[in-house]
Amino acid sequence: MIDIASPLRLRLDSAALVHNWRWLAQASGAEAGAAIKADGYGLGARAVMQRLAAAGCRFFFVATWVEAAALMPLPAGVSLSVLHGVGETDMIAARTLPVRPVLSSIEQVARWRAGGEGRPCDVMVDTGMNRLGLRVEEALGGALGGLVIETLLSHLASADEDSPQTGRQLAAFAAIRDAIPARRYSLANSAGICLGPDYGFDLTRPGLALYGGVPRAEAAGPIRQVAFPEARVLQMRDVPAGEAVGYGATWTAPRDSRVAVANMGYADGYLRCHAGAGGATWEGHALPLIGRVSMDLIAFDASAAPGLAEGDWLTLDYDLPMTAARSGLSQYELLTGLGARFERYWV
Ligand SMILES: *Cc1c(COP(=O)(O)O)cnc(C)c1O
Repeated sequence: MIDIASPLRLRLDSAALVHNWRWLAQASGAEAGAAIKADGYGLGARAVMQRLAAAGCRFFFVATWVEAAALMPLPAGVSLSVLHGVGETDMIAARTLPVRPVLSSIEQVARWRAGGEGRPCDVMVDTGMNRLGLRVEEALGGALGGLVIETLLSHLASADEDSPQTGRQLAAFAAIRDAIPARRYSLANSAGICLGPDYGFDLTRPGLALYGGVPRAEAAGPIRQVAFPEARVLQMRDVPAGEAVGYGATWTAPRDSRVAVANMGYADGYLRCHAGAGGATWEGHALPLIGRVSMDLIAFDASAAPGLAEGDWLTLDYDLPMTAARSGLSQYELLTGLGARFERYWV
């Protein structure tokens, strides 16, 4: 097979990933699992799982059975749960794979009782988000009797803000914990972990902060960036003062300029909203993004980096909290939107 190098790549920092997981475990005082749905928030679920399992992480969560099947075989000693539970068409996968469903409705509980062959499951109880999960009254009213529950979960709706809803959810979950037997109890996502040990229970389920996202100020110092998009320079151009660059001619050279055209665009998840504020670095030089983002191309003002040449690699500015603040995209979207054309490589 011929080896064709991709002109855009995603550098992924193993040490930062493991560091973030350890910090999250210590901040909550509980064991930390990992949410690796959406292909590990765009980084690569299998690679994330291998690295975190090697560091001691034992509980992993994906959204769907397709995601679960793609992660077989699991590393030794690791458990995987499917957050969306079991629909009618999922039962064969659910009986076949060494993976637990997170049952999240009365219908799913009935389906698992009838077809789950007595195997253990996880259960989601909704404590006020009204997304997935049995209602508190249903759970307390005996709906879960007879199930072998490994992890009993609920999910926080507003832990990344200072909202009274979060305390109400904590109280509701504590009542559930006291009434319904399960092997372990799990409430906090990344933002919930930042609220401290009251929210830890037995197991936490961080996603965003593992991958360098900062959901609350408490995490701003300790959490390290994990994903670094890099684009190769396809062409250097000399643009005379007064000429424009790109679709719509939205940027005009204020002086004779050197422009670097690089291999990345909105088809790679680098969306048009980065225009006006995005940038990259090359050997310590800051290169402002100029003009519109095209489907496969972006341009930078490289006047301050005279040594930059065709074939060099630019590192895009992609610190998640800063990039979210200037682009209007959430940190989650910035990660999960990173496209299939990136060659993902771990250092
Ligand atoms: C995605 C998800 C998580 C992880 O949330 P983050 O905000 O990314 O830390 C945890 N629990 C559930 C149920 C989820 O869907």
